[in-house]
Amino acid sequence: MSQQTEQRVSFSFENTENAFKSKSNRELDKAFWLFKIIGSPFLTKLGLPLTSAALKIGLPITPIIRNTIFNHFCGGESIKDCLPLIDRLAAQHVGTILDYSVEGEDDEVTFERTCDEILRTVRHAAENRNVSFSVFKPSGLGRFALLEKVNAGKPLDGAEKREYDRFNDRIDRICKACYDAGVRVLIDAEHSWIQDAIDDIARNMMRLYNHRAPVVYNTYQLYRTDKLASLKADYYLAETDGFFLGAKLVRGAYMEIERERAEKQGYLSPIQPTKEATDEDYNEAIRFCLDHIDRTGLMAGTHNEFSCRLLADEIDRRLLPRDHPHIHFAQLLGMSDNLSFNLAEAGYQVAKYVPYGPVKSVMPYLFRRAQENTSVAGQTGRELALITKEKKRRRSIP
Ligand SMILES: Cc1cc2nc3c(=O)[nH]c(=O)nc-3n(C[C@H](O)[C@H](O)[C@H](O)COP(=O)(O)OP(=O)(O)OC[C@H]3O[C@@H](n4cnc5c(N)ncnc54)[C@H](O)[C@@H]3O)c2cc1C
Repeated sequence: MSQQTEQRVSFSFENTENAFKSKSNRELDKAFWLFKIIGSPFLTKLGLPLTSAALKIGLPITPIIRNTIFNHFCGGESIKDCLPLIDRLAAQHVGTILDYSVEGEDDEVTFERTCDEILRTVRHAAENRNVSFSVFKPSGLGRFALLEKVNAGKPLDGAEKREYDRFNDRIDRICKACYDAGVRVLIDAEHSWIQDAIDDIARNMMRLYNHRAPVVYNTYQLYRTDKLASLKADYYLAETDGFFLGAKLVRGAYMEIERERAEKQGYLSPIQPTKEATDEDYNEAIRFCLDHIDRTGLMAGTHNEFSCRLLADEIDRRLLPRDHPHIHFAQLLGMSDNLSFNLAEAGYQVAKYVPYGPVKSVMPYLFRRAQENTSVAGQTGRELALITKEKKRRRSIP
């Protein structure tokens, strides 16, 4: 162990050569203009409804979307389309998480089709060591309104009970396939008014499939005031009942909607009062998972440099191997490459969420990325500054 400690190389998130190694000058220019546009609240506010309307009335704008925002944030329309990207990421020691990102469809045929597609990602992950996790969004497998009803503890009628059984069965099929294939799976977190229902199922799945190793990971949104406590409670349950906790830590993507709904309906917002409070719980959650890493699988899903640095430093300080099988960093494709590629170069385990699916069906995901890059203070500015730095560096090479 001491030898390994001596060999630990330091690294910098400012290393743009590493961050953008796989991008050509043309790709870098395209990324620059894309972030310029989505960084403008005016253009984003105008562009999103116009794009939605154009798609609805059938205007042929798909090629424009594909060549711009889709190509930047998505791997393609199918698993096959994503293969070159998976290899490109792997060349820099970054794994892929194939994320079938079809959203907004609400019928049983689509849920079944989505389940089949996720099972294909599991089979692909089993065969391709560069695909490190599978992932699914529960509302892609069952009706949102049904989950809302279950979450609220309202009674279900006979047809709804059967529908809910089918939803549970899809999740079980995915988690069991992962268990059988030795593939880890992430369950994404969503709105608070369906999240308790998701948490219950996730705990059942962990109990069933995490008795040998962390296979199923639930997601903890630390922008919620109650989630650090839930993480700890789930850990103690895992300890008592003899299974591994799988914990993907995120800050949370639905802050504005959560606050608006709470205000409209007159209940106490579940969201932390300040960004600092969210950050504090997030970083405390990282420390808690590391304190219990023998029984915990930790994935830090974040673009926050401080949190990534904290996790990296804590791994080193505790003399844990940088490639500890229970510890992963993850970022979304097209964002924070300076974190992903510099961490991976330094020997930590990193993966990128690579969303894919038909252009039209991944639009809600793309809209969220555009909105996030407009609303998350500093994110777009940071991306632009890094791209500018790299362009300058390349120009200075004789
Ligand atoms: C790999 C990966 C997987 C993800 N999976 C999920 C998922 O399953 N579910 C999900 O909901 N999100 C998910 N996200 C998105 C994530 O929750 C964040 O929205 C996003 O990553 C921005 O947070 P950050 O930690 O990267 O960094 P930062 O930019 O430091 O934090 C921004 C976040 O802080 C919080 N915040 C901002 N302002 C305030 C405020 N005034 N008060 C309180 N809190 C505030 C919000 O959560 C905001 O998104 C995922 C992100 C990644 C990278």
